[in-house]
Amino acid sequence: ATEISGLNKWYGSFHVLKDIDLTVAAGSRIVICGPSGSGKSTLIRCINGLETYQGGSIALGGVKLGDNAKETTLARRDTGMVFQSFNLFPHLTVLSNCTLALRRVLKMSRRQAEDIALHYLEKVRIPEQAKKYPAQLSGGQQQRVAIARALCLSPRLMLFDEPTSALDPEMIKEVLDVMVSLASEGMTMLCVTHEMGFAREVADQVIFMDQGRIVEQARPDIFFGAPSHARAQQFLEKIL
Ligand code: ATP
Ligand code: MG
Repeated sequence: ATEISGLNKWYGSFHVLKDIDLTVAAGSRIVICGPSGSGKSTLIRCINGLETYQGGSIALGGVKLGDNAKETTLARRDTGMVFQSFNLFPHLTVLSNCTLALRRVLKMSRRQAEDIALHYLEKVRIPEQAKKYPAQLSGGQQQRVAIARALCLSPRLMLFDEPTSALDPEMIKEVLDVMVSLASEGMTMLCVTHEMGFAREVADQVIFMDQGRIVEQARPDIFFGAPSHARAQQFLEKIL
């Protein structure tokens, strides 16, 4: 499980995350939503060790981030991250994007790394694009490569930060379909998304953030049926 306890973060004097408590149990799927600037990306980035924080703790599989450099590095390797902007390496082929960490970090042979990469490229349904460069792919295809690349390291937790919001409508579904299959295979997922259809179908908990706080956490049927917090109601009225 991933356990976040009393997390507080400031950017200078701006209090961006306030007393965040959140447990992501193995196999659970949590969707985070909330207005722009509420701290969703910052929270996700703290969990992946991309941001520091000033109070509280984050533990990945029992290992507290920051306690011990070597253990922190290993724990971080257990989380895969997918960004809104794909973040593929433009000068590397799709296949090399996927094999890079396997070869550099895990010191695998080219053959072994490519076998794993192709397995995940098949899972995201684009093995035929392996030899292309990111710029030669559609946004939806690039995002599926980014998912495959994250999966190559066999993460125990997948973090998604608005993976479909940079995509044209017709490509959103192909990415969501991949995420739905991942969920059905039991992947633990923490997703920032405003795709409420996905949240209803896949999430076991929906979290609503506002001004740096988790103000509501509920099962999707309850959250969408009758959110208890006024800010969540207003938010849903706007996006649904
Ligand atoms: P969005 O829906 O627009 O992606 P978000 O909920 O992901 O919003 P964050 O990106 O986490 O919000 O940002 C939370 C707040 O922290 C915002 O007010 C933002 O301006 C501020 N912020 C984010 N990054 C920094 C930074 N590096 N330095 C200072 N302030 C920052
Ligand atoms: Mg964000």
